[in-house]
Amino acid sequence: MPTPHVTARCSTCFRTERWTADGTQVVDMEGGRRRPSDPAYRDAWKTLRAWQEGGPVVVGVCDMCAQPMVSTDPHATPITGWTLELPEARVLVGEWLSIDRGDGPAVKATIEQVDTLVGHRTTSERVRSFVGPISTLPFVAFCVALVLAMTLLWLFTSNFFMSFIWFGFSSGGFVGGGYG
Ligand SMILES: [Zn+2]
Repeated sequence: MPTPHVTARCSTCFRTERWTADGTQVVDMEGGRRRPSDPAYRDAWKTLRAWQEGGPVVVGVCDMCAQPMVSTDPHATPITGWTLELPEARVLVGEWLSIDRGDGPAVKATIEQVDTLVGHRTTSERVRSFVGPISTLPFVAFCVALVLAMTLLWLFTSNFFMSFIWFGFSSGGFVGGGYG
């Protein structure tokens, strides 16, 4: 009987690895190109939250982007726990959720409580993720201008040749000569 393996996939950069019971790890897909959003804990929580709700189990940490790796294999062994470092608290995600605010022992929490702590993207974060791509605008504008110039050039030359040929036919001049 062949050794059963677990397919682990990074939730963010799609790095895919095959883990066999004897400890061999085969990288099926390198991944690493897709970066986690800023702050990265939002992406991590999305994956951890799905795990808490019975989704794909978190089996490890991605070598490329440090985000959780998940598996949908029925025999996949979940990690013992994941610590989510948030600005205001530390959330421990394991068999259950607990919040450690640093002012006493960690308290058991619900998904909704962690949702509130993780929060949503603020306006300034939205602006930041929008301004990033804007810095590439001059290059994009250059490309658009180049394509436009090529199109205009093509239009101009083809128009020129068309009228040239048309002129030749209609005048009965140099094209074919003497049919007019
Ligand atoms: Zn990754």
